[in-house]
Amino acid sequence: MHFTTCPLDCFDGCSIVVEEDLKLKGNKAHPITQGFLCHHLNHYHHFERIEEARYQGQSVSLEKALELLVDALKTYAPSRTLFFKGSGNLGVMQGVTKTFFAKHQAVLASGSLCDEAGDAGVVQSRGANLSLSPLHVKESEVVIVWGRNPSVTNSHMLPALKNKTLIVINPVKIDLASNAALHIQIKPKGDLYLALLLCRLVAMEELEDKVFVKERCDNYDEFLEFVNAIPMRKLIDKAGVNLDDVGELLSLVKGKKVSILIGIGVQKYSFGHSVVRSIDAFAAMLGLFGKVGCGVGYLSNSGFGFTSPFKVNAKKEPLPIANFSKYDLVFIQGGNPLNQMPCSKKVQENIAKAKCVVYFGLHENETSTKAHLVIPALSFLEKNDVKLSYGHHFVGRMPKIVENSAGISEYDLTQKLLQAFGHEALQSDESIIEEVIASNSVLQDGFLISKTYEEIPYATKFYTPSGKFEFLEEFDDDMEEEGEGFFLIAAKQNKSLNSQFVTNDYLYVPTSLGFKQEERVRLTNRYGSCIYSVMPSAKLRDDCLLLYSGAKNANMLTPNAMSQEGNCAIYQDMKVTLEKLQ
Ligand code: SF4
Repeated sequence: MHFTTCPLDCFDGCSIVVEEDLKLKGNKAHPITQGFLCHHLNHYHHFERIEEARYQGQSVSLEKALELLVDALKTYAPSRTLFFKGSGNLGVMQGVTKTFFAKHQAVLASGSLCDEAGDAGVVQSRGANLSLSPLHVKESEVVIVWGRNPSVTNSHMLPALKNKTLIVINPVKIDLASNAALHIQIKPKGDLYLALLLCRLVAMEELEDKVFVKERCDNYDEFLEFVNAIPMRKLIDKAGVNLDDVGELLSLVKGKKVSILIGIGVQKYSFGHSVVRSIDAFAAMLGLFGKVGCGVGYLSNSGFGFTSPFKVNAKKEPLPIANFSKYDLVFIQGGNPLNQMPCSKKVQENIAKAKCVVYFGLHENETSTKAHLVIPALSFLEKNDVKLSYGHHFVGRMPKIVENSAGISEYDLTQKLLQAFGHEALQSDESIIEEVIASNSVLQDGFLISKTYEEIPYATKFYTPSGKFEFLEEFDDDMEEEGEGFFLIAAKQNKSLNSQFVTNDYLYVPTSLGFKQEERVRLTNRYGSCIYSVMPSAKLRDDCLLLYSGAKNANMLTPNAMSQEGNCAIYQDMKVTLEKLQ
């Protein structure tokens, strides 16, 4: 029996028991995992892997594939070589490859298809983005689940939500909404306006934590001036809410220990950083930071306080709008830009112009099938790594448990490339991992945790230059005029993780439109036009359509643009028109 940690891009960072036959089980002793895993890891060995390297569609040996990679790197200028990394595996050692590409003076795609706009907002207000674990949320009386769907993306939070007063804020009637004391079925892109409306009402009703605001916040008066200047009617209309619901929310949180769990849904907009800052501002007014059972949790900076072994200086290409046509050689690790990047048609056209596309990963996907050279990676059971979680403070070791010569680890690939180009070799992977762990871990009740969490996050300080919480004082909604059409929102579903595993390709439409399952529609906006089969849903607002992340053609209509802060994709910053096909 061995212990390891789930490598996937997920809040829960589960601790796993690996049995002799490689069966994976949740570690019962782990305070977060509590003995259960989700669909992805329960079926992990059933998902087909890439077993052989291939070049131009023909199988080749791994050695030959690596020779071909070195040849390509020698053939094409480093300035026309792009390194693009996805988040198929979030182990620290996954980042080792960029040390070679930076030394090679290639260009590194930098930014995020996920959470970085919101992260930028958290950092502006709090100076550092720390997590709110289920162990902390367990102590709350009220939990606001804002743009997050824990049943799907954070199932190990669910035990902490039992017997709490739940408030769900989501344009979709997620499962938790049926057990909630209040569900505010907010308009997409309305989160900033609702948060500012709440701030306005907190001030009007004098519900602020006056001591916290005076002692722990920097610019409260300026914030009040800013928020009071926005017409109340505008806040209500843009949020698409009614004032009774908002009043009820305030009465539910008044004087209570409140945790707010934010998901990435709220920040998939150009001003995504301001959305999360506005929610943070509401929490700061109520004095929710640094206290037992209170706080705001987003996808945290998992590496906070730890040394970053693979920090490099390199030329950058903004990842959400990476223009592959500028490059001769594109090296893609653990990602699927042909499905996941916004504005798929443009991505397809651009990538077709690259002379050599290399895919280095575990599973086939839209990108691997178009690649000239495919190099199989190793699974998390077949290499050494360590996982720092963005949803809690536990550090998870990931030792090599089985050998597999069909693929290569990121570490071994990097060593081979460094050697082929005459660069200095890296120290051993074990010693890199031990240095990372030693830099900020401590043993607590038999588990390694991040030292940063020995005290409650923000109990004594914020990490801003002033050491205090800093409120936003402006925002720029550059799609202020909504225009005609439907909001097209993206959500996660429980059988897939983005485009990995079992995807669902339906376009979900509100039942009020009167469609039958499988009817065909065309969606159009300024980024393109695409045909979908529909699935009626009673869970949607009448002005919303929904595609699950990873669906075929999920990104045909999403903007080729990125957030004002954080170099992040802004998938939902658009509307679409819908036409029924005969
Ligand atoms: S819940 Fe998340 S961390 Fe746990 S097994 Fe599933 S994907 Fe991995």
